[in-house]
Amino acid sequence: MVLKKEFFELPTGVIYLDGNSLGPLPKAASARVAAMMQDEWGQMLIRGWNAAGWMDQPDRVGDRVGRLIGAPAGTVVMGDTLSVKVYQAVAAALNMVPDRRVILSDTGNFPTDLYMVQGLIDALDRGYELRLVAPEEVAEAMDDQVAVVLLTQVDYRTGRMHDMRQITERAHAAGAVMVWDLAHSAGAVPVDVAACGCAFAVGCTYKYLNGGPGAPAFIYARADLAERVEPVLAGWLGHDAPFAFDLDYRPAPGIGRMRVGTPPVIQMAALEAALDVWDAVDISELRAASVALQELFISEVEARAPELRLASPRDPNMRGSQVSFAFDEGYAAMQALIARGVIGDFRSPDIMRFGFTPLYLDADDVRAAVDHIEVVMRDRLWDDPVYKTRAAVT
Ligand SMILES: *Cc1c(COP(=O)(O)O)cnc(C)c1O
Repeated sequence: MVLKKEFFELPTGVIYLDGNSLGPLPKAASARVAAMMQDEWGQMLIRGWNAAGWMDQPDRVGDRVGRLIGAPAGTVVMGDTLSVKVYQAVAAALNMVPDRRVILSDTGNFPTDLYMVQGLIDALDRGYELRLVAPEEVAEAMDDQVAVVLLTQVDYRTGRMHDMRQITERAHAAGAVMVWDLAHSAGAVPVDVAACGCAFAVGCTYKYLNGGPGAPAFIYARADLAERVEPVLAGWLGHDAPFAFDLDYRPAPGIGRMRVGTPPVIQMAALEAALDVWDAVDISELRAASVALQELFISEVEARAPELRLASPRDPNMRGSQVSFAFDEGYAAMQALIARGVIGDFRSPDIMRFGFTPLYLDADDVRAAVDHIEVVMRDRLWDDPVYKTRAAVT
């Protein structure tokens, strides 16, 4: 049984289908953060770095996240945001293949990953090129020019899922270094980074891991690489001896070198509380429950709201933990749904996105959500100017 509704603060009257974008508040997080602020920050002041274990928190939490993605202890560290971790991983990966100049990614990748690579290419100014192909063409595009393959396993728009093992094998056969972005995978689908053999993996913790807005990202480096990786963002907390205050950088042993600066201690207290729920969850059971909810949702929507066109792969093995439907007035339709308490989101140009999170959603929630979708479509509730003005965050 993976349903853990009692663990979360869910507003009454809301069916939350957006945990793929921002997980809900775990009840324990409020108390944990309050205690951290009062007892640690408030009372210990700067002594908290040692006495409350703030300095080790990025490694300690990293190991807990690592267990959810198949990473051995000591290979994952927390910090910064995912955009920064993408930059760091790709930069480190490029240094491992000095004679090649192509970074390969796909057009389904989340734009910030591509923007970070574009910025890195400009900063390095060594003639690197970002090669973008359709997701289905990634394997064929791996030739002997490709230094690094950067892919997000689950497409943020459609939910389409790459086969990590197969693609990593193909990248290695082509002599490239593999970097996976697990933003929509961690806490959603079974992942085994060690078994897949990729060099690096990165991800965020505010989506399926419920760490809260601004929760830190994670970065994994394969155990055998940890001592050779050049961290690139050479911050003081990734130094071998930060409090020696040497004038020259010398990387810390192991994954600790991927730390940059002061960790977000308050935010990580919330994340630690959020991670407690995973101690009692079997991720393959969670996956099976997610697929069942998604299959129910698709069949109900297709039967009751035929105007919506499935934009996700029909084969559940090819999908992450979200289902997307295309509709020309998708933005307004989603606003109309949100007004009725069914919270999903919209991704340009016409994608209505629904995330499935079996920790706090069951089949009754799915059927109730489709009741609202049916009404919004049948009565054309989206056709109201009030729903058509776009907010900054969609
Ligand atoms: C959510 C997401 C991000 C967000 O990056 P931040 O730096 O945390 O804002 C990046 N990449 C992918 C693939 C994502 O899904």
